[in-house]
Amino acid sequence: MHKPYRGRFAPSPTGDLHLGSLLSAVASYLQARKYQGQWLIRIEDIDPPREVHGSAAGILKDLKALGMQADEDVGYQSHNTAAYQQALASLLSSGKAFRCGCSRKQLKNDPVYPGNCRKLQLDACAVRLKAATRQLTVIDQLQKSREYALAEDIGDFIIWRADDLPAYQLAVVVDDAAMGITEVVRGCDLQGSTPRQLYLQECLGLPHPDYLHIPLLTDKSGRKLSKRDNDDPLNQLQPLAAIRLALRLLGQQPPPEISDLNKLWEWAIVHWQASNIPLQFPTSSIRGLGC
Ligand SMILES: [Zn+2]
Repeated sequence: MHKPYRGRFAPSPTGDLHLGSLLSAVASYLQARKYQGQWLIRIEDIDPPREVHGSAAGILKDLKALGMQADEDVGYQSHNTAAYQQALASLLSSGKAFRCGCSRKQLKNDPVYPGNCRKLQLDACAVRLKAATRQLTVIDQLQKSREYALAEDIGDFIIWRADDLPAYQLAVVVDDAAMGITEVVRGCDLQGSTPRQLYLQECLGLPHPDYLHIPLLTDKSGRKLSKRDNDDPLNQLQPLAAIRLALRLLGQQPPPEISDLNKLWEWAIVHWQASNIPLQFPTSSIRGLGC
């Protein structure tokens, strides 16, 4: 484990805090507390078309009510455009990235980018990172390690969007480095981003944090829970019960007699074991889980 530990929770302001994102928040928070480190919050608001007005403030308010507060000022990706542009410029000038004018329609039958624009000198807004022809291993603190063939499995991927916005991968990598993050704890839905982010870090000469991916909470039909729906227990639970439920889902066993939120957190910080997080959450339904 890197010292001093710095972890983060990085929600997109596209809706309310839901049980799935609460699990990432709790797991990242407890890892940071366990290692006497810092826990930071970053609002990933670089996709204005998807943003829901008031969502960032709502998420921060919910986290506070649940007993989680960041150790430093909350960061907003929308304030960091200059840093993303700088990273982009360095990748373009070193020849590690190229401009791509392909439309989505043109590429619809290609699971991996076929390299159309690699040798062209286009004026397009979209930029792709050139995938090298080699293997990359992702080591996960919880899940099995995975090998990727960069060129075949991932290909040249977008780091700047056609609508002139930074792509998620670039913004995350630049921010994690700027914030000195030593371990990223997040949901398995982002597992596929990790090889891209490790490779981008390498291209930009940035350090690699550790990664720990927690399983995904799915709804009744097995779909990832991505916003709070009517079945989300967070709608009905008081903070104490919500944190107790999150801890139980994360494989921790808080004593039932604790009836105070602060005491529950004190217990959780002392007893937190990331290795007890299950590799899968119950998939059938979240209704009735501990409530
Ligand atoms: Zn192209």
